[in-house]
Amino acid sequence: MRTPLIAGNWKMYTTPSTATVWMRALLEDLTSQDVSHVELVLNVPATHLAVLAPITAGTPVALGGQDVSAHDEGAYTGEVSAAMLANAGARYCVVGHSERRQYHAEDDALVGAKVAACLAGGLIPILCVGEVESEREAGEHEATVIRQLTGALEGIDLKDSGDLVVAYEPVWAIGTGKTATADDAQAMGAVARSFLKGRYGPLADAVRILYGGSMKPSNAAELLAKADVDGGLIGGASLKRDQYLAIAAAAPR
Ligand code: PEP
Repeated sequence: MRTPLIAGNWKMYTTPSTATVWMRALLEDLTSQDVSHVELVLNVPATHLAVLAPITAGTPVALGGQDVSAHDEGAYTGEVSAAMLANAGARYCVVGHSERRQYHAEDDALVGAKVAACLAGGLIPILCVGEVESEREAGEHEATVIRQLTGALEGIDLKDSGDLVVAYEPVWAIGTGKTATADDAQAMGAVARSFLKGRYGPLADAVRILYGGSMKPSNAAELLAKADVDGGLIGGASLKRDQYLAIAAAAPR
């Protein structure tokens, strides 16, 4: 069985100071709540990593970034490289989130370059794919996800199934309170898995495929019970400790 990955995406919320208080409280909560059946990762603003890394070191909580430069280093003002994120304490990095695609015009080629940058720089990419509402209504959701995976993974040679995480996030469900049904999430997880199998063979069986889009304690158990939903990418609810831990607890043991 694939260990469920319960990945928070804090977006542009909290400061290093408030995040420090939050993280200490989460670690305190973990002394009385057993969620050792899942892997916990919080994808935080880049400014928080070096502050949170000493607090989470040696605990069950891993850290991740939310975006990464496609470049190794150079005159790219404002950009943060994979090596910088890794050195500051990140193990994972969200890549191709729909908010990056929408507000920063990231296309599949750029997302692919960022996946490659993560792998070269020592980070595990959490590659986000998913259709917008009009694509779902037009019945183009599968084709959209396959196109995004094809573009982002072109030239990416996977050596270990743990080197990649895919997050299926229907854009119409992110931050809207609308959630895909568990059956739809499973169907799209299976589409992603079948693409990965065609691309990487048996390695794909162990790649984790997450669902993201208004996951919360009330819908998590049903979603996480599905065969090709190996965890969640959780925005709003991951900022609330009780909700984040309740989602983790809802994952199958
Ligand atoms: C996300 O930010 O990837 C996300 C799924 O957000 P939310 O859980 O708030 O819909």
